[in-house]
Amino acid sequence: MAAKTILVTGGAGFIGTNLVKRLLANDDYVIVIDNFITGKKKNLVDFYHWKNFRVLEHDIVNKLPDLNVEQIYNLACPASPPQYQKNPVQTVKTNVLGVINVLELAKKTGARVLQASTSEIYGDPREHPQSESYWGNVNPIGRRSCYDEGKRCAETLFFDYFREYAVDVCLVRIFNTFGPLMDGNDGRVVTNLIIQALQNKPLTIYGDGSQTRSFMYIDDLLAGLLLAMNKSGFSGPINLGNPAEISILTLAQEIIKQTQASSQIEFRPLPTDDPYRRQPDIARAQAELGWQPQVSWVDGLRKTIAYWQQILA
Ligand code: NAD
Ligand code: UDP
Repeated sequence: MAAKTILVTGGAGFIGTNLVKRLLANDDYVIVIDNFITGKKKNLVDFYHWKNFRVLEHDIVNKLPDLNVEQIYNLACPASPPQYQKNPVQTVKTNVLGVINVLELAKKTGARVLQASTSEIYGDPREHPQSESYWGNVNPIGRRSCYDEGKRCAETLFFDYFREYAVDVCLVRIFNTFGPLMDGNDGRVVTNLIIQALQNKPLTIYGDGSQTRSFMYIDDLLAGLLLAMNKSGFSGPINLGNPAEISILTLAQEIIKQTQASSQIEFRPLPTDDPYRRQPDIARAQAELGWQPQVSWVDGLRKTIAYWQQILA
Protein backbone atom coordinates (compact mmCIF):
# COMPACT_ATOMS: atom_id res chain seq x y z
CA MET A 1 0.00 0.00 0.00
CA ALA A 2 1.34 3.50 -0.86
CA ALA A 3 2.51 5.64 2.07
CA LYS A 4 -0.17 7.99 3.40
CA THR A 5 -0.18 11.18 5.46
CA ILE A 6 -2.06 10.37 8.64
CA LEU A 7 -3.11 12.60 11.53
CA VAL A 8 -3.49 10.96 14.94
CA THR A 9 -5.13 13.21 17.51
CA GLY A 10 -4.41 12.01 21.04
CA GLY A 11 -1.32 10.28 19.65
CA ALA A 12 0.63 10.61 22.92
CA GLY A 13 -1.85 8.49 24.88
CA PHE A 14 -2.08 4.74 25.42
CA ILE A 15 -3.78 3.68 22.17
CA GLY A 16 -2.23 6.58 20.25
CA THR A 17 1.37 5.69 21.05
CA ASN A 18 0.82 2.05 20.10
CA LEU A 19 -0.93 3.09 16.88
CA VAL A 20 1.72 5.62 15.87
CA LYS A 21 4.41 2.97 16.31
CA ARG A 22 2.47 0.66 13.97
CA LEU A 23 1.84 3.38 11.35
CA LEU A 24 5.48 4.50 11.29
CA ALA A 25 6.55 0.90 10.79
CA ASN A 26 4.28 0.90 7.68
CA ASP A 27 6.27 3.91 6.35
CA ASP A 28 3.27 6.23 6.61
CA TYR A 29 3.87 9.93 7.36
CA VAL A 30 2.40 10.52 10.82
CA ILE A 31 1.41 13.79 12.45
CA VAL A 32 0.37 13.73 16.11
CA ILE A 33 -1.77 16.42 17.68
CA ASP A 34 -1.98 16.25 21.46
CA ASN A 35 -2.50 18.66 24.37
CA PHE A 36 -0.79 16.21 26.78
CA ILE A 37 -3.65 16.32 29.27
CA THR A 38 -3.20 12.57 29.89
CA GLY A 39 -0.68 11.66 27.18
CA LYS A 40 3.03 11.98 27.83
CA LYS A 41 5.75 13.64 25.74
CA LYS A 42 8.13 10.87 26.78
CA ASN A 43 5.87 8.36 24.97
CA LEU A 44 6.87 9.97 21.67
CA VAL A 45 10.59 10.32 22.29
CA ASP A 46 11.46 7.17 20.33
CA PHE A 47 9.71 8.57 17.25
CA TYR A 48 11.49 11.94 17.02
CA HIS A 49 14.32 10.58 14.89
CA TRP A 50 11.90 9.23 12.26
CA LYS A 51 11.83 11.51 9.21
CA ASN A 52 8.15 10.69 8.69
CA PHE A 53 7.02 11.89 12.15
CA ARG A 54 5.85 15.26 13.45
CA VAL A 55 4.13 16.33 16.65
CA LEU A 56 2.08 19.47 17.32
CA GLU A 57 1.09 20.50 20.83
CA HIS A 58 -2.48 21.65 20.34
CA ASP A 59 -5.89 21.30 21.99
CA ILE A 60 -8.47 20.09 19.44
CA VAL A 61 -11.07 22.27 21.18
CA ASN A 62 -9.37 25.07 19.20
CA LYS A 63 -9.46 25.16 15.39
CA LEU A 64 -6.93 22.76 13.91
CA PRO A 65 -4.04 23.99 11.77
CA ASP A 66 -4.41 23.52 8.01
CA LEU A 67 -2.86 20.10 7.44
CA ASN A 68 -3.02 18.20 4.22
CA VAL A 69 -3.85 14.70 5.44
CA GLU A 70 -5.48 11.64 3.91
CA GLN A 71 -6.56 9.86 7.08
CA ILE A 72 -7.43 11.04 10.59
CA TYR A 73 -7.70 8.86 13.69
CA ASN A 74 -9.50 10.95 16.30
CA LEU A 75 -8.33 9.49 19.60
CA ALA A 76 -8.10 12.74 21.55
CA CYS A 77 -10.00 12.40 24.84
CA PRO A 78 -9.01 11.06 28.26
CA ALA A 79 -10.42 7.52 28.55
CA SER A 80 -9.94 6.73 32.24
CA PRO A 81 -12.88 7.64 34.52
CA PRO A 82 -10.77 9.45 37.17
CA GLN A 83 -8.98 11.39 34.40
CA TYR A 84 -12.03 12.52 32.42
CA GLN A 85 -13.88 13.37 35.63
CA LYS A 86 -11.08 15.74 36.74
CA ASN A 87 -12.04 18.17 33.94
CA PRO A 88 -15.63 17.31 33.00
CA VAL A 89 -16.37 20.48 31.02
CA GLN A 90 -13.12 20.10 29.06
CA THR A 91 -14.12 16.47 28.39
CA VAL A 92 -17.43 17.59 26.87
CA LYS A 93 -15.70 20.32 24.86
CA THR A 94 -13.20 17.80 23.50
CA ASN A 95 -16.01 15.54 22.31
CA VAL A 96 -18.19 18.29 20.83
CA LEU A 97 -16.10 21.35 19.83
CA GLY A 98 -13.01 19.20 19.31
CA VAL A 99 -14.88 16.69 17.17
CA ILE A 100 -16.38 19.51 15.06
CA ASN A 101 -12.86 20.86 14.47
CA VAL A 102 -11.62 17.41 13.44
CA LEU A 103 -14.61 16.89 11.12
CA GLU A 104 -14.11 20.35 9.60
CA LEU A 105 -10.53 19.42 8.72
CA ALA A 106 -11.78 16.17 7.17
CA LYS A 107 -14.39 18.13 5.20
CA LYS A 108 -11.77 20.57 3.92
CA THR A 109 -9.16 17.96 2.96
CA GLY A 110 -11.43 15.06 1.96
CA ALA A 111 -9.63 12.88 4.52
CA ARG A 112 -11.19 9.69 5.83
CA VAL A 113 -11.79 10.15 9.56
CA LEU A 114 -12.14 7.46 12.22
CA GLN A 115 -13.71 8.21 15.58
CA ALA A 116 -12.57 6.28 18.66
CA SER A 117 -16.02 5.84 20.13
CA THR A 118 -16.64 3.60 23.08
CA SER A 119 -18.74 0.89 24.69
CA GLU A 120 -19.63 3.65 27.20
CA ILE A 121 -22.22 4.91 24.74
CA TYR A 122 -24.23 1.81 25.82
CA GLY A 123 -24.05 3.08 29.45
CA ASP A 124 -25.25 0.54 32.01
CA PRO A 125 -26.70 -1.75 29.36
CA ARG A 126 -30.11 -3.40 29.55
CA GLU A 127 -29.23 -5.58 26.54
CA HIS A 128 -26.58 -8.23 26.76
CA PRO A 129 -24.28 -8.66 24.91
CA GLN A 130 -24.31 -5.22 23.31
CA SER A 131 -24.75 -5.08 19.55
CA GLU A 132 -24.47 -1.94 17.46
CA SER A 133 -28.25 -1.68 17.13
CA TYR A 134 -28.66 -1.13 20.90
CA TRP A 135 -29.27 2.55 21.79
CA GLY A 136 -27.92 2.36 25.33
CA ASN A 137 -28.91 3.32 28.85
CA VAL A 138 -27.00 6.43 29.90
CA ASN A 139 -27.51 8.80 32.83
CA PRO A 140 -27.33 12.27 31.24
CA ILE A 141 -26.38 14.11 34.46
CA GLY A 142 -24.05 11.75 36.33
CA ARG A 143 -20.29 11.81 36.94
CA ARG A 144 -19.62 9.68 33.85
CA SER A 145 -21.94 11.71 31.60
CA CYS A 146 -19.26 14.16 30.40
CA TYR A 147 -17.61 11.18 28.72
CA ASP A 148 -20.63 9.01 27.85
CA GLU A 149 -22.85 11.80 26.54
CA GLY A 150 -19.85 13.57 25.01
CA LYS A 151 -19.00 10.44 23.03
CA ARG A 152 -22.67 9.99 22.06
CA CYS A 153 -22.78 13.55 20.72
CA ALA A 154 -19.52 12.87 18.85
CA GLU A 155 -21.24 9.92 17.15
CA THR A 156 -24.15 12.20 16.20
CA LEU A 157 -21.74 14.74 14.72
CA PHE A 158 -19.94 12.05 12.74
CA PHE A 159 -23.15 10.85 11.16
CA ASP A 160 -24.45 14.37 10.55
CA TYR A 161 -21.21 15.34 8.77
CA PHE A 162 -21.57 12.13 6.76
CA ARG A 163 -25.19 12.87 5.74
CA GLU A 164 -24.89 16.65 5.35
CA TYR A 165 -21.38 17.04 3.90
CA ALA A 166 -20.52 13.51 2.67
CA VAL A 167 -17.47 13.39 4.94
CA ASP A 168 -15.85 9.94 4.74
CA VAL A 169 -16.43 8.78 8.33
CA CYS A 170 -15.80 5.57 10.23
CA LEU A 171 -17.22 5.02 13.71
CA VAL A 172 -15.60 2.40 15.91
CA ARG A 173 -16.91 1.51 19.38
CA ILE A 174 -13.97 0.30 21.44
CA PHE A 175 -14.46 -1.95 24.47
CA ASN A 176 -12.03 -1.99 27.44
CA THR A 177 -8.52 -2.27 25.99
CA PHE A 178 -5.29 -2.80 27.90
CA GLY A 179 -1.60 -3.39 27.30
CA PRO A 180 1.84 -1.76 27.42
CA LEU A 181 2.27 2.02 27.37
CA MET A 182 -0.81 2.88 29.43
CA ASP A 183 0.25 5.49 31.96
CA GLY A 184 0.95 4.04 35.40
CA ASN A 185 -1.16 6.73 37.10
CA ASP A 186 -3.97 6.49 34.60
CA GLY A 187 -6.34 4.82 37.08
CA ARG A 188 -7.85 2.09 34.90
CA VAL A 189 -8.28 -1.30 36.45
CA VAL A 190 -5.76 -3.53 34.65
CA THR A 191 -2.84 -1.14 35.10
CA ASN A 192 -3.81 -0.32 38.70
CA LEU A 193 -4.02 -3.97 39.74
CA ILE A 194 -0.84 -5.08 37.95
CA ILE A 195 1.25 -2.32 39.53
CA GLN A 196 -0.26 -3.00 42.97
CA ALA A 197 0.44 -6.74 42.64
CA LEU A 198 4.04 -6.21 41.48
CA GLN A 199 4.58 -4.06 44.58
CA ASN A 200 2.82 -6.61 46.84
CA LYS A 201 0.33 -3.91 47.81
CA PRO A 202 -3.41 -4.57 48.33
CA LEU A 203 -5.38 -4.82 45.08
CA THR A 204 -8.15 -2.20 45.11
CA ILE A 205 -11.50 -3.56 43.95
CA TYR A 206 -14.37 -1.10 43.70
CA GLY A 207 -17.64 -2.67 44.88
CA ASP A 208 -17.74 -6.42 45.45
CA GLY A 209 -15.93 -7.20 42.18
CA SER A 210 -18.93 -8.97 40.63
CA GLN A 211 -19.25 -6.31 37.90
CA THR A 212 -17.95 -7.54 34.55
CA ARG A 213 -15.89 -6.20 31.68
CA SER A 214 -14.58 -7.78 28.47
CA PHE A 215 -10.90 -6.94 28.08
CA MET A 216 -9.16 -6.69 24.71
CA TYR A 217 -5.40 -6.68 24.21
CA ILE A 218 -4.02 -3.64 22.38
CA ASP A 219 -2.65 -5.60 19.38
CA ASP A 220 -6.14 -6.86 18.56
CA LEU A 221 -7.52 -3.34 18.71
CA LEU A 222 -4.79 -2.01 16.40
CA ALA A 223 -5.58 -4.71 13.84
CA GLY A 224 -9.28 -3.80 13.98
CA LEU A 225 -8.64 -0.05 13.71
CA LEU A 226 -6.45 -0.50 10.62
CA LEU A 227 -9.00 -2.80 8.96
CA ALA A 228 -11.87 -0.39 9.66
CA MET A 229 -9.93 2.67 8.49
CA ASN A 230 -8.79 1.00 5.28
CA LYS A 231 -12.17 -0.45 4.33
CA SER A 232 -13.21 2.11 1.79
CA GLY A 233 -16.64 3.65 2.31
CA PHE A 234 -17.33 1.69 5.51
CA SER A 235 -18.89 4.05 8.05
CA GLY A 236 -19.84 1.69 10.91
CA PRO A 237 -20.71 1.88 13.74
CA ILE A 238 -18.78 -1.24 14.64
CA ASN A 239 -17.89 -2.84 17.97
CA LEU A 240 -14.26 -3.81 18.54
CA GLY A 241 -13.85 -5.84 21.70
CA ASN A 242 -13.02 -9.25 23.08
CA PRO A 243 -16.25 -11.08 23.96
CA ALA A 244 -14.62 -13.00 26.85
CA GLU A 245 -16.51 -11.47 29.78
CA ILE A 246 -15.01 -11.72 33.28
CA SER A 247 -15.70 -10.24 36.69
CA ILE A 248 -13.25 -7.75 38.18
CA LEU A 249 -12.67 -10.22 41.03
CA THR A 250 -11.62 -12.90 38.51
CA LEU A 251 -9.27 -10.38 36.91
CA ALA A 252 -7.67 -9.57 40.28
CA GLN A 253 -7.25 -13.26 41.13
CA GLU A 254 -5.55 -13.99 37.80
CA ILE A 255 -3.18 -11.04 38.29
CA ILE A 256 -2.25 -12.30 41.77
CA LYS A 257 -1.67 -15.77 40.31
CA GLN A 258 0.50 -14.59 37.43
CA THR A 259 2.61 -12.19 39.53
CA GLN A 260 2.78 -14.60 42.50
CA ALA A 261 2.04 -11.57 44.67
CA SER A 262 1.40 -11.82 48.39
CA SER A 263 -1.23 -9.07 48.00
CA GLN A 264 -4.63 -9.13 49.64
CA ILE A 265 -7.77 -7.73 48.06
CA GLU A 266 -9.09 -4.44 49.44
CA PHE A 267 -12.74 -3.65 48.68
CA ARG A 268 -13.56 0.04 48.16
CA PRO A 269 -16.85 1.84 47.41
CA LEU A 270 -18.18 1.43 43.89
CA PRO A 271 -18.18 4.74 41.95
CA THR A 272 -21.64 5.96 40.93
CA ASP A 273 -23.06 4.78 37.61
CA ASP A 274 -20.33 2.14 37.25
CA PRO A 275 -21.79 -0.19 34.56
CA TYR A 276 -22.57 -3.66 35.91
CA ARG A 277 -22.03 -5.71 32.75
CA ARG A 278 -20.20 -5.19 29.50
CA GLN A 279 -19.75 -7.59 26.60
CA PRO A 280 -19.44 -6.83 22.89
CA ASP A 281 -21.37 -8.60 20.18
CA ILE A 282 -18.73 -8.69 17.44
CA ALA A 283 -20.74 -10.38 14.68
CA ARG A 284 -20.57 -7.21 12.56
CA ALA A 285 -16.78 -6.89 12.93
CA GLN A 286 -16.41 -10.54 11.94
CA ALA A 287 -18.67 -10.16 8.90
CA GLU A 288 -17.55 -6.70 7.70
CA LEU A 289 -13.86 -6.77 8.57
CA GLY A 290 -13.08 -10.46 8.95
CA TRP A 291 -11.76 -9.42 12.39
CA GLN A 292 -11.77 -11.18 15.70
CA PRO A 293 -9.46 -11.02 18.70
CA GLN A 294 -6.42 -13.31 18.65
CA VAL A 295 -5.02 -12.69 22.14
CA SER A 296 -6.86 -14.03 25.19
CA TRP A 297 -7.14 -11.74 28.22
CA VAL A 298 -4.94 -14.19 30.17
CA ASP A 299 -2.15 -14.03 27.55
CA GLY A 300 -2.58 -10.26 27.25
CA LEU A 301 -2.08 -9.98 31.01
CA ARG A 302 1.12 -12.03 30.73
CA LYS A 303 2.53 -9.58 28.17
CA THR A 304 1.41 -6.52 30.14
CA ILE A 305 2.82 -7.87 33.41
CA ALA A 306 6.17 -8.53 31.66
CA TYR A 307 6.13 -4.91 30.43
CA TRP A 308 5.50 -3.53 33.93
CA GLN A 309 8.13 -5.81 35.46
CA GLN A 310 10.65 -4.21 33.12
CA ILE A 311 9.46 -0.65 33.81
CA LEU A 312 9.39 -1.06 37.59
CA ALA A 313 12.79 -2.77 37.66
P1 NAD B 1 -5.45 8.17 26.92
O1 NAD B 1 -6.01 9.06 27.98
O2 NAD B 1 -4.25 7.36 27.25
O3 NAD B 1 -5.12 9.03 25.62
C1 NAD B 1 -5.87 10.13 25.21
C2 NAD B 1 -4.93 11.12 24.52
O4 NAD B 1 -5.70 12.24 24.06
C3 NAD B 1 -3.88 11.69 25.46
O5 NAD B 1 -2.63 11.72 24.83
C4 NAD B 1 -4.38 13.10 25.76
O6 NAD B 1 -3.36 13.98 26.16
C5 NAD B 1 -5.05 13.47 24.44
N1 NAD B 1 -6.08 14.50 24.54
C6 NAD B 1 -7.14 14.54 25.38
N2 NAD B 1 -7.90 15.62 25.16
C7 NAD B 1 -7.31 16.29 24.13
C8 NAD B 1 -7.62 17.49 23.44
N3 NAD B 1 -8.69 18.23 23.77
N4 NAD B 1 -6.79 17.89 22.45
C9 NAD B 1 -5.70 17.14 22.11
N5 NAD B 1 -5.36 16.00 22.73
C10 NAD B 1 -6.17 15.58 23.73
O7 NAD B 1 -6.65 7.24 26.43
P2 NAD B 1 -6.61 5.97 25.46
O8 NAD B 1 -6.94 4.77 26.25
O9 NAD B 1 -5.40 6.01 24.63
O10 NAD B 1 -7.89 6.28 24.56
C11 NAD B 1 -7.76 6.89 23.29
C12 NAD B 1 -9.15 7.08 22.69
O11 NAD B 1 -9.80 5.82 22.58
C13 NAD B 1 -10.05 7.98 23.51
O12 NAD B 1 -10.81 8.78 22.64
C14 NAD B 1 -10.95 7.01 24.23
O13 NAD B 1 -12.21 7.56 24.51
C15 NAD B 1 -11.07 5.87 23.22
N6 NAD B 1 -11.37 4.60 23.89
C16 NAD B 1 -10.42 3.95 24.61
C17 NAD B 1 -10.75 2.76 25.25
C18 NAD B 1 -9.73 1.96 26.04
O14 NAD B 1 -10.11 0.94 26.63
N7 NAD B 1 -8.47 2.34 26.10
C19 NAD B 1 -12.05 2.25 25.17
C20 NAD B 1 -12.99 2.98 24.45
C21 NAD B 1 -12.64 4.13 23.78
N1 UDP C 1 -11.97 -0.76 39.15
C1 UDP C 1 -11.55 -1.43 40.29
N2 UDP C 1 -10.35 -1.10 40.82
C2 UDP C 1 -9.53 -0.14 40.30
C3 UDP C 1 -9.97 0.55 39.13
C4 UDP C 1 -11.21 0.21 38.59
O1 UDP C 1 -12.25 -2.32 40.80
O2 UDP C 1 -8.44 0.09 40.84
C5 UDP C 1 -13.27 -1.18 38.54
C6 UDP C 1 -14.18 -0.05 38.10
O3 UDP C 1 -15.01 0.38 39.17
C7 UDP C 1 -14.97 -0.73 36.98
C8 UDP C 1 -13.96 -1.70 36.36
O4 UDP C 1 -12.96 -1.89 37.36
O5 UDP C 1 -16.03 -1.48 37.52
C9 UDP C 1 -13.32 -1.16 35.09
O6 UDP C 1 -12.81 0.12 35.38
P1 UDP C 1 -11.96 0.99 34.35
O7 UDP C 1 -11.77 2.33 34.97
O8 UDP C 1 -10.76 0.25 33.93
O9 UDP C 1 -12.90 1.09 33.05
P2 UDP C 1 -14.45 1.46 32.83
O10 UDP C 1 -15.14 1.62 34.15
O11 UDP C 1 -14.43 2.73 32.08
O12 UDP C 1 -14.98 0.31 32.08
